[in-house]
Amino acid sequence: MRIDILTLFPEMCEAVLSESIIGRAREAGFVEIRCRNIRDYTADKHNRVDDAPYGGGTGMVMQAQPIYDCFQALCAELGTRPHLIYLSPQGQVLRQTRVKELAGFDHLALLCGHYEGVDQRVLDEIVDEEISVGDYVLTGGELPALMLADAVARMLPGVLPNEEAFTQESHFSGLLEYPQYTRPFAWQGREVPEVLISGHHANIAAWQREQSLRRTFERRPELLETVELTAKERQMLDQLRAAQEE
Ligand code: SAM
Repeated sequence: MRIDILTLFPEMCEAVLSESIIGRAREAGFVEIRCRNIRDYTADKHNRVDDAPYGGGTGMVMQAQPIYDCFQALCAELGTRPHLIYLSPQGQVLRQTRVKELAGFDHLALLCGHYEGVDQRVLDEIVDEEISVGDYVLTGGELPALMLADAVARMLPGVLPNEEAFTQESHFSGLLEYPQYTRPFAWQGREVPEVLISGHHANIAAWQREQSLRRTFERRPELLETVELTAKERQMLDQLRAAQEE
């Protein structure tokens, strides 16, 4: 898979994408992520890429022309038109279900806004989808684009050691993950749950499933609405609800 990030701050993105798991995955060729500087495409003789908003107001707005030309250059280079996502606080909030779907694309392009945002006309002209990383506002789309690229890339074959590394995690199956522990067995008077050192795989799996359900019930009960549960699990959750109401 290839992901292209269209940004005014490519060094900021490169710095993050060169590190750790994603950095190694890029080097090994499991994912190709490239950053393209929108400023390289400005037709302005002073290299400007933004201007004051029509109608007045604080801040600057990114102009349509450099973004449009940047995207057209990418399409021409690839010989195809990638699915273009604009990172925006006005988009659909990103969830793991959408991450899974996006991981199925051969090619994504991510457009990062900055300042007050982007001229609406270029968004209407070329953007396929707007995605938000949450109901709050950041100074630019770079961090959201990096979050999206990271979330998608880690689901691609070869990036993590195996599929379990992401299928067993929070949100993949709709639940939050069970608590994790590592050595030492006792720390600050707190011991690891005995079942985890029992070596009994079925009991460990049952404990992990129960902990996942309990955590999800306590922290994000709304997630349970879409999860498939056994009769026994439904009974357990009913008991937790009843105890909560007492
Ligand atoms: N004026 C815009 C508004 O009120 O909707 C906010 C602009 S924001 C300061 C600048 C850029 O940061 C946006 O164009 C977008 O690319 C990015 N951004 C900010 N918050 C974001 C979020 N929650 N999710 C995704 N992108 C975000």
